[in-house]
Amino acid sequence: MPTVPSSRLAPSPTGALHLGNARTFLINWLIGRQSGWNLPLRIDDLDGPRVKAGADQQALADLTWLGLDWDGQPIYQSHRLSLYQAAVNNLLNRGLAYPCVCSRKEVESAASAPHAEDQSVRYPGTCDGRFISIHDAVAKTGRQPALRFRVPPGPVSFNDNFFGPQTFDLSTTSGDFVIAKADATPAYQLAVVVDDAEMGVTHILRGDDLLDSTPRQLLLYRALGLDSSIPHYIHVPLVVGLDGRRLAKRHGDTRLSSYRESGVPPERIVAMLARWCGINPGHDEITARELIGKFDLANLPHHQITFDPAASHLS
Ligand code: GLU
Repeated sequence: MPTVPSSRLAPSPTGALHLGNARTFLINWLIGRQSGWNLPLRIDDLDGPRVKAGADQQALADLTWLGLDWDGQPIYQSHRLSLYQAAVNNLLNRGLAYPCVCSRKEVESAASAPHAEDQSVRYPGTCDGRFISIHDAVAKTGRQPALRFRVPPGPVSFNDNFFGPQTFDLSTTSGDFVIAKADATPAYQLAVVVDDAEMGVTHILRGDDLLDSTPRQLLLYRALGLDSSIPHYIHVPLVVGLDGRRLAKRHGDTRLSSYRESGVPPERIVAMLARWCGINPGHDEITARELIGKFDLANLPHHQITFDPAASHLS
């Protein structure tokens, strides 16, 4: 483990930052700043088709407007492809990953017991042991394969610093998962592990929608020989709309940039976010910096936060 603890801010430039993202970033920033950790910023821009031009700069401007800062220059995942490629090759060469030519449709129809409401289906291992190399897969099928990590049998357990002990059995739920897409783009699960280990990240704070990504990431840390870099995980509940669904466009415009354009002071947003984080800001407006030292994970609500536009006094 590196001597200086470190977290990271990791926006995905797939859309504008909204109040829900802002709250998670504020928690991450407050923990980092009041604990004296390193706090680099990484732009997670590998999801090609979903990345929006200019959304990275917009995210940086939104965070700055809110009063959040970070250490060093932003790190772009898209500039680090050779690191991911080396990790993928490592797993492939050691027989821990294999080429897979199944389309999403084929995986869904081959899954023996799809869970009715759950969109995730277990990959049944159709291509496991089918090809000796990527080249072999292309030659035999004419398709460019994705690469899957072979999930070892048995449960994966970890202790989440907010939610407590967690156990997942990927071998019975999701099965072998993709680490590089057919177009050779590294998958989120792989890239985030390679980056966090390389960046010396010791504490990951993120929304609880990524809780079930953690066992995949732990398996990758171990398979890549990065056990000593395994971070602490702190997942936090998300902000939802009045319908109980994760905050999104359907709940109205909650983008930070819209509040900024309509003249809402960032301090008013920060005061609302502070209340959502279990902090009494004492005023209707407060700066992020004034909250340093006031955040305590023990006071963070365990339930989801419901955003009610009428009660928010933001417009
Ligand atoms: N960039 C990811 C997101 O915005 C976060 C990744 C992570 O924290 O592991 O959802």
